Amino acid sequence: MTRKRVVAGNWKLNLGPEEGIGLVQELLPLLTDEAKCDVVICPPYLTLSDAGKALQGSQIELGAQNVHWAESGAFTGEVGPSMLLTIGCRWVILGHSERRQLFGETDEGVNQRLSASLAAGLKPIVCIGETLEERDAGRVEDVVLGQLDRSLAGLTSQQATATTVAYEPVWAIGTGRTATPEQAEEVHAMIRNRLTATFGEDTAHQMRVQYGGSVKPDNAAELFGQENIDGGLIGGASLDAESFAAIVHAR
Ligand code: PEP
Repeated sequence: MTRKRVVAGNWKLNLGPEEGIGLVQELLPLLTDEAKCDVVICPPYLTLSDAGKALQGSQIELGAQNVHWAESGAFTGEVGPSMLLTIGCRWVILGHSERRQLFGETDEGVNQRLSASLAAGLKPIVCIGETLEERDAGRVEDVVLGQLDRSLAGLTSQQATATTVAYEPVWAIGTGRTATPEQAEEVHAMIRNRLTATFGEDTAHQMRVQYGGSVKPDNAAELFGQENIDGGLIGGASLDAESFAAIVHAR
């Protein structure tokens, strides 16, 4: 079985509704037949609804950059899983390193968000990855597999299959310094082995593990060509229609 690639664009804190619609309109003619790849864009909350309307009828799906675990209640500033579904949002990024580093999110919180997302029927992308200090200290396996175990704790095999993992070395995010295909594949294979040990071979074989960290049109094909890399989570390059389309089309 070949896993279907998934390429997701994380717009971060960029593009309000009007600009977001503009980028979608540029993307639509460039991404017309993507049956071999799931394509997702993740605008900021404020832009989700308008971007979703602009995407209607296309094969590009809509994702959020985070979600709270509660459906409703006294959680000022938060958005719940079912709210996302009501506006056509089907995917959600969880545990991005910027959420972890700048907003104090923990593996346990990611796990709560993940359970709630899966219960609601969202397709989660769970981000894990080591810092440069951790890599230099020889702690990649320890850090990455620890984050994986704690973030995905308690999932059934069916829930695991619906979950995408994004390996994003923190030192490669927004820095222009990409992991080499060999460095990335080494960690992806490690992740796949741990998924096999936790969820069994069938499930681990079906789960998609994306790479993220300065993916650009000129390095995407080689990264995505690795055995255990099933597409990418794209930051900066997803804000440019031609670059994002070229990454989706990378072969
Ligand atoms: C990201 O934000 O998840 C990311 C990978 O960013 P960039 O592609 O800009 O490194």
